[in-house]
Amino acid sequence: MSKTNLTFGPVPSRRFGVSLGIDLSPDFKQCNYDCLYCELKAAKTVSKMTKYPSVKELIDAVKNKILSTHTKIDVLTITANGEPTLYPDLKELVTELNKIKGDSKLLILSNGSTIYKQDIQDALMDIDIVKLSLDCISKECFTKLDRADKSIDTDKIVSGMIEFRDKFKKDLILEILFVDTLNNKEKEILFLKEAIAQIKPNRVDIGTIDRPPAYKVNPISFDELEQISHKLEYPYINIAHKNRPEFQEYYSKDSIITLLNRRPLSEHDIQHTFDKESKTNLETLISDKKIEVINNSGVKFYKIC
Ligand code: SF4
Repeated sequence: MSKTNLTFGPVPSRRFGVSLGIDLSPDFKQCNYDCLYCELKAAKTVSKMTKYPSVKELIDAVKNKILSTHTKIDVLTITANGEPTLYPDLKELVTELNKIKGDSKLLILSNGSTIYKQDIQDALMDIDIVKLSLDCISKECFTKLDRADKSIDTDKIVSGMIEFRDKFKKDLILEILFVDTLNNKEKEILFLKEAIAQIKPNRVDIGTIDRPPAYKVNPISFDELEQISHKLEYPYINIAHKNRPEFQEYYSKDSIITLLNRRPLSEHDIQHTFDKESKTNLETLISDKKIEVINNSGVKFYKIC
């Protein structure tokens, strides 16, 4: 292991309040995937990190650069230029972070590729929020889109997630990034729907490419994302889209009940589609205890009581 330049900084997140990131691969990309949509430069996949900061360097820096200069941090995010579970001392790092984090939550953003490995599951057990990517189920899709390193057995990823969910009682979020002509095919969406139903995450975030990708691939539209959210048939789906259209329509109390009987809506759905009067109607239904608000790993969902 050699000395690295440590980087810490705000992690883009509207969902977790003040969130600061701890980069486990600050010098260059070290990832076991080579996703077509990656916002980092394309790089050869690796099975483990070869250059990384020590646990002591990271903990000292978190204490001195983050915790001493920020009074209120909602979330400390373990991340990387690449895949953070390739960090060899992850369990020790999590243990040490838990000793100093105070009231902050610990979150990890992982591509999910290593979740079937017991040592990785053990390391993740003491993290408050685990967010795993799952773009594909079929081998064909994994090969074309995520382009995993040969050290990864993509056939074990879904069963690894089911097994992990079974023992992990804290917040598990799945993230799916849709890329045109690849994982937006009907067959793949059906596989994803079946996998999500078995994994039972607290929430599924779906989105598409919104920054320049490493390779020439295209996003899908917001409309298509919305259609996919219905096809996945899971109650807690959060659509993330930078150009999400604003409709601001009127909904009576009855139509809100009808809408929410179909499926819960996220705070972002409400924000972008309800006009002022509809929001007042929603508040009345909440006070009348006809609708409840659930905070699902940082995103509020509105559902029928
Ligand atoms: S897993 Fe993340 S860092 Fe790795 S190639 Fe894919 S998008 Fe890039």
